[in-house]
Amino acid sequence: MSGGGAGMSGGEGMAIVPGMTELTRPYWDAAAEGRLVIRECRGCGRLQHPPVPACPACHGADFGWREASGEGAVYSYTIIRHATHAALADAIPYVVALVELAEGPRLVTGITGCPPESVTVGMPVRAAFRRVTDEVTLPYFEPA
Ligand SMILES: [Zn+2]
Repeated sequence: MSGGGAGMSGGEGMAIVPGMTELTRPYWDAAAEGRLVIRECRGCGRLQHPPVPACPACHGADFGWREASGEGAVYSYTIIRHATHAALADAIPYVVALVELAEGPRLVTGITGCPPESVTVGMPVRAAFRRVTDEVTLPYFEPA
């Protein structure tokens, strides 16, 4: 877990809790255990994030979940300087990034554990997790 860094690493109530559906529940269940999982098509092996009802590659609908290494790199990012939600007012500035996982899929996530200005494209990062409610633990990334 992080601590004391920039961005989303502060106290309770600073995060937006994402919607959870049957499609994404295994992802959140794994996050609650400190694991990052990516949905894998059993038909063609494509890894897909976020999960969609049918495989974009082979149109199959038989999926499993593969545990990701949690390692990746910043593909692109933006520094948020204006709160778009009252719950985030104490968190700005913070970084929202597109992180490309070592396994290939990219996911939108927060970067924490470093000053927002120090984030760069290509920066190696690793997954970390922060429990925000009894049900939801948010995956985010910090410098590797
Ligand atoms: Zn497929």
